[in-house]
Amino acid sequence: MEFDYDLFVIGAGSGGVRLSRVAASYGARVAIAEDSLVGGTCVIRGCVPKKLLVYASHFPHEVEDAAGYGWSYPPGTFSWPALIAAKNREIARLNGVYISLLEQSGVQRYDGRATVADIHTVEVAGHRVSARHIVIATGARPVLPVVPGIEHAITSNEALDLASQPRRVAVVGAGYIAVEFAGIFNGLGTQVDLWYRGRQILRGFDEDVREALAGAMTRQGISIRTETGVLGLEKHPDGTIELLFEGGVHGRYDAVLYATGRVPNSAHLGLEEVGVALDSNGAVEVDEYSATSVPSIHAIGDVTARPQLTPVATRDATLLAATLFGNVRRAVDHEYVPSAVFSTPEVATVGLTEEAARERYHAVDIFKTSFKALRHTLSGRDERTLMKLVVDRSSQKVVGAHMVGRDAAEIVQGIAIAVKAGVTKAQFDETIGIHPTVAEEFVTMR
Ligand code: NDP
Repeated sequence: MEFDYDLFVIGAGSGGVRLSRVAASYGARVAIAEDSLVGGTCVIRGCVPKKLLVYASHFPHEVEDAAGYGWSYPPGTFSWPALIAAKNREIARLNGVYISLLEQSGVQRYDGRATVADIHTVEVAGHRVSARHIVIATGARPVLPVVPGIEHAITSNEALDLASQPRRVAVVGAGYIAVEFAGIFNGLGTQVDLWYRGRQILRGFDEDVREALAGAMTRQGISIRTETGVLGLEKHPDGTIELLFEGGVHGRYDAVLYATGRVPNSAHLGLEEVGVALDSNGAVEVDEYSATSVPSIHAIGDVTARPQLTPVATRDATLLAATLFGNVRRAVDHEYVPSAVFSTPEVATVGLTEEAARERYHAVDIFKTSFKALRHTLSGRDERTLMKLVVDRSSQKVVGAHMVGRDAAEIVQGIAIAVKAGVTKAQFDETIGIHPTVAEEFVTMR
């Protein structure tokens, strides 16, 4: 059968764009559909704009720290609209870069919402086209719990584009997005209360990491209120929002940011109608080759149940392109995926938490250190750095590395290479440190 395309990708986020370009480089005839802006969550409303706001939130700290080094500045002023406008200009530029990358690769772009009509046919923007392979790369979106007045809440999507800076913000949730935005708003001068239903922020992370970050955030003036469930939200005539909690507690805010997880964009695509299996959360079920239950349909990125991280999506895209068009059948490998939380200070991690390692291995050795970085001897900032290595006692392999502190993400990226390669604690010990750095502490823990 002759198809219009070798590959039709639905969703032009990081994963979809990468897949299209690499597939085209193998000589495949590729089309991609997007009903929003090319670039997806990462570029348009996630990683990139968020990180720009994180940078913005750090400048007041830098100026404060500078005083200990002899600098003095007149009191600073901050313009939220100027920051958002600058951020939007950069996002528009990146959107243009992504579009031209697709064009240079010879990928046909369709602007509109695509649906799967049958196992080899896609309908988009009034067109009906056939493809040998269809790939679902539609990502995920924020999900809000069912609570009275929830329509008054915003998600991270809106938080990145607020017209004015809120004076007081409530953040509900305590995962990646919640702690990142708590740090952004706090650094920019907004009063932040973080409300969490659980015992400690960042469930799933190492206990020492959770405690260290919660302590650091509290010292910066963020109020972390745990074990408190939200009963509802009420909007007042002056535009402020009242959050009502169990036990009669309440708080009044200019904005209430819900960061309570994300759900796969798998509905109304025609997937189940053609036999693509979804799990109970709506994620497309895939095997290690990104294959769904329908041989001609694959899926990558946040629409699957894989880690919702851009580099995972782009790696899986590259491997899928090789499998479909490069005659190199390669399974995805999600062991030792490093990740970072761009809180202030940063959290970065690779491998197992101490708790998970104790469950998996007969015995583990723990090495950890908490110290005041040299930089803060003069700055006077009350900030400590935490580093922790989790070692399987029998093999002496480092199976987990964790850090809370400035540049943690930059440092742990390097550590992750070694951990992925199966480094032992003795090899850490044999490595000479670079002095004086924070990172050298990773090779001097005994
Ligand atoms: P997370 O899953 O990280 O956190 C969700 C938070 O919301 C948890 O604290 C959870 O509590 C809480 N929660 C869930 N449901 C409810 C509810 N009904 N009522 C109250 N609280 C609730 O989700 P995020 O939205 O922060 O981020 C989504 C994903 O995006 C992340 O898992 C990550 O993969 C990715 N991401 C990655 C980033 C990075 O790499 N730096 C940055 C941002 C996002 P509990 O713990 O009790 O379940």
